[in-house]
This record gives sequence, C-alpha cells and structure tokens, in this order.
Amino acid sequence: MENKKHCVYCGKVIETKSKEHIIQNAIGGLCVSEDICCPECNACLSKSIDAPFTKIFAPMTSKIRNFVKTHNTKSNPSYKGFAQSSNDQQVYDVVIKEGQVVSSKKFSQVHKCDASKADWTILASCFDLDNDSYKNGLSKMAFNFALQHSVSIDLLKDKIAIKTQNDKVIDVKFKFQVIPFIALNPLDKYIELNTPMLLYHNLILFNENNQLWCYIDLFNTFQVYILLTDKWDSNQEIYRSYLQLLQQIDRDMPDLKNLDVKDIYILAAQYGVEPIADMKEFCKSIANVVQKRSLISNMADIISQKLSDDYFPTGKMEDMTPEEISFRLESLRFYFDENDRLKYGLYRKETLVNGKNFEIVSYPQWINKLSGEGAINLTDYTYAKFYRLVNYLNEKRDNSTKEVQ
Ligand SMILES: [Zn+2]
Repeated sequence: MENKKHCVYCGKVIETKSKEHIIQNAIGGLCVSEDICCPECNACLSKSIDAPFTKIFAPMTSKIRNFVKTHNTKSNPSYKGFAQSSNDQQVYDVVIKEGQVVSSKKFSQVHKCDASKADWTILASCFDLDNDSYKNGLSKMAFNFALQHSVSIDLLKDKIAIKTQNDKVIDVKFKFQVIPFIALNPLDKYIELNTPMLLYHNLILFNENNQLWCYIDLFNTFQVYILLTDKWDSNQEIYRSYLQLLQQIDRDMPDLKNLDVKDIYILAAQYGVEPIADMKEFCKSIANVVQKRSLISNMADIISQKLSDDYFPTGKMEDMTPEEISFRLESLRFYFDENDRLKYGLYRKETLVNGKNFEIVSYPQWINKLSGEGAINLTDYTYAKFYRLVNYLNEKRDNSTKEVQ
C-alpha cells in the first residue's frame, strides 16, 4: 500500500498525481515532484506565481540556442525592465510595453532623445528585488527544493500565507527573506566574472547552524539566497545541490536511427522508458529522456571545470598586493582539494573574509551584514553578471574567453 501524500497548500490527500516542477518548466526546469501538491493547487500556483515569474525571463529564454523547453508568453502591460541600446551598447532601466521600450529616463537624459524611437534589445525585468513576482517565484522554487529533500512542511509553513475561499486555495504568498548574492572572495569573483559563460540553473540547500538556506542561481546570472527557516535543528547538517545545464550538448545524443531494435530496447531499459507499439514515438521518448539526463550535471564537475591557470594570471600577479595574492590562494584552498576539485559542502555556504587570519563566515549572513552597513554595493556585481549574459545571448562574446568543453 502506497503511502498517500498530503497537498502542502490545501492539506487534502493527493488522490490524483500532478507534476510540480521544482524549477519552473518555462525556464527549462527538468526536475519534477508528484508529492508536493494536488492538481487544483498546482493549477492555482501555476497561474498566480509561475506565469508572472517566468514571463520575466521570456526575453532571455527565446534567445538561448538549443534551449530545452520554451513557452514564450506574449508580453503584457507595461513593466520595468532592462534593455541594451544599439546606440552605445549600454544597458538602461526602461519601461516596456507589449515587447517594446516605451521610455527610459536615463537614456533620454544621456542622448537627449525619445527612448521609444531608439533601437533596443530588451533583456529582462529581474533586478527589482522588491518585485513580488520575482520574489514569489524564487521562494516557491526554494520551498519545492526543500520539500523534495524531505524538509518538513511544518518548519516552513509559518512563512507561507495561504488564502482560501470555500475550502479552496485561491492565493499563496511566500514570505521568506530574499538576499541577493554577491561574490565576496577572489575565487567566486573569478568563477562568476572571468570564466567562460556556461548557462545553468543551480540550487543548493544547506543549513548554517539553525538557519536553513537555499541558494538559487538561474541562468548563471540571477543569484539569491532564500532563508527558509531559522528553526532548523543545528545538529542535523544538510547540504544538497542540483545543477542542470540549459543548452543541449549535441554529441551526447545517441543515434537511434542507426541502432538495432534490440539495442533500442536495451537503451530504453537503461533509461527506464516503457516500450510502446509505435516505434517512432518510442524512439522519441527515449531521446527525450536521454537528453534530459545528460543536462543534469554534478555541481562539482561543472565548477571544478571552471578553474584554470587564469586564476593566477601570469603578468597580472605583479600588480597584486601580497594580501591579495594570499586571499586568492586561501580561497582556493578553502573550496578546492589538492586535485583542484570542488570540495563538497562548502561552496556558497561559507566564505573566507580577508583580514584577520581569513575568518570563515556564513555567506548569506555576511552579505546581509555588509549590505546592511552599506559596505558593499550589490548593484555593480549584479550588473556585471547581467552584462555577461546579455553579451553571451547576443553572441558578442569576448574573444579572449575560451569555450568550456
Ligand atoms: Zn491542494
């Protein structure tokens, strides 16, 4: 007898299974769970949270080559966003309506002309962290990921406001604290800003004493921490990561057309695909599963791959102070083992602080502390990440960067 699950929103027993994407399907999320919610609540959240959230990313997903899944929704009423001007290649805050830039205060100041008449590449509307759609979508993702890793709903539910009407859930709001990520040590700065662009989504669930956090990195650009609870049992260490690439690697696809029927069945069994009578459809579903599987990667593999000799760039080391060099070296030793492989359990959880003997601190707490004191500027880093994505998607790649193999 299968143990029946309860819907986390309405509390009813889940009689009919429905697939809940941990990362929203429209932005390429491949991982699903059928144990989180009932079909009614799934539909409700998909409309109230997922649709407005994924719309933010529509201008980007449409530009990604070999993107796995794309539902492009049409742009709706005006919203604040970012766009790159073809006049000077700069990114400006703009107001967008029906897929067109209608105004930009800064652009008009600089160029003394009407922004709606200029030529723009629209990017996204993600940097407004007070944007409820953005916060809610990220919060739901962190919440889903925690549930998938058996975090009890009882620990999380006091931060979820559920509105019901006639015994039905009509609206859900997440009230988790959202903190933007900013690279604080030389190794993270190097990985994020100086290595070749590689599109992925990355989630890391971890505890720091009694705080349970989820680090989210979407498109390797939009990076935040979500504080899920501060009532976590500090004796129970947790660290779980999920990383998926967003662009299909062609060479990983098996050539099904040239396989014997017998080998097709073997492949299907390996990937857990049920045989069906229609051979063409059968091959299609095998290809689909193989494709998805090849995109889900080990986080340590991907991050370790990024480390190269450029981390200690020849010719530039002379310009660094001894303190800078030792901060570089200590950060490397902190995250990577002697074989230059990422150590499990530390990445994005903790960081070293330059200064007295390289103190180890909680990454999100330190960001929170520094930004509270006005000691760091969140915008510069966020913009730098954003420029990289924009240039990558527009194929204006820096020739000095190498493609990751
Ligand atoms: Zn429900």
